Amino acid sequence: MLKFKYFLVFGLIFIAHLVAGVFYSGYSWWLVAGGILLLLILLALACANIRWNFFIKATNRIPLSVQQLQSGAMPVALTFDDGPHEHTPAILDILAKYNVKATFFVIGKQIPGNEAILKRIAEEGHLIGNHSYSHTGSLYARSASAIRADIAQCNRLIYDVSQQEPKLFRPPFGVTNPALAKAVTQLDMSVVGWSVRSYDTMAKDEAKLLRKIMKGIRFNDIILLHDRCPITVAILPRLIEAIQEKGMQFALPEVPTRA
Ligand SMILES: [Zn+2]
Repeated sequence: MLKFKYFLVFGLIFIAHLVAGVFYSGYSWWLVAGGILLLLILLALACANIRWNFFIKATNRIPLSVQQLQSGAMPVALTFDDGPHEHTPAILDILAKYNVKATFFVIGKQIPGNEAILKRIAEEGHLIGNHSYSHTGSLYARSASAIRADIAQCNRLIYDVSQQEPKLFRPPFGVTNPALAKAVTQLDMSVVGWSVRSYDTMAKDEAKLLRKIMKGIRFNDIILLHDRCPITVAILPRLIEAIQEKGMQFALPEVPTRA
């Protein structure tokens, strides 16, 4: 929330300065309108960029302890959004074959009818995170309490099926705003973003997608994938092998403990 508060204070001073300029220095009102527009554009960009940590602190890379750094550990986290889905079992088969653990950010409304898949995710040792119940853009027009109810509904469904109590939340589309930040804080959950966005939902070419993910991959990256995409199922074995060839290990995004 800190950056947002600074932004509010700075924004008010900035606009007050421009308004004073209209009266004392002959500034045009257009300049004031331009200033307000600039602040609104900045705010929209902040909502769209989870990695700015503007409204709430998100974990966008795996946090590493000094000991881990000294021991030369190079963990990478695979995360799969938008399931449970009919393609999820194929993802689970591949992960089991390579003995890799991953994190699944599931959508609440996807759970009814797919309970067996969610149960399997939990039973095979993967971590389940919350990706909201409704996964709709209109979530961001709702009050903090309405967003909290949506997230809590997804938590309840996850718990009923898997007995896992989700502590991690990934906002739909990676969008954050003050109401969402408040809801997540009240639920005592941690926001997890990513450092590598694959855009697998739009990808058509397997080799290109693989290259895009592997380009510039670094240790403690959190990779965003979608288990509902057939292309992700298709490239997953090659992706796992390419990451292992770099000497990296697969890990879960660690839950940061709150002080
Ligand atoms: Zn999603």
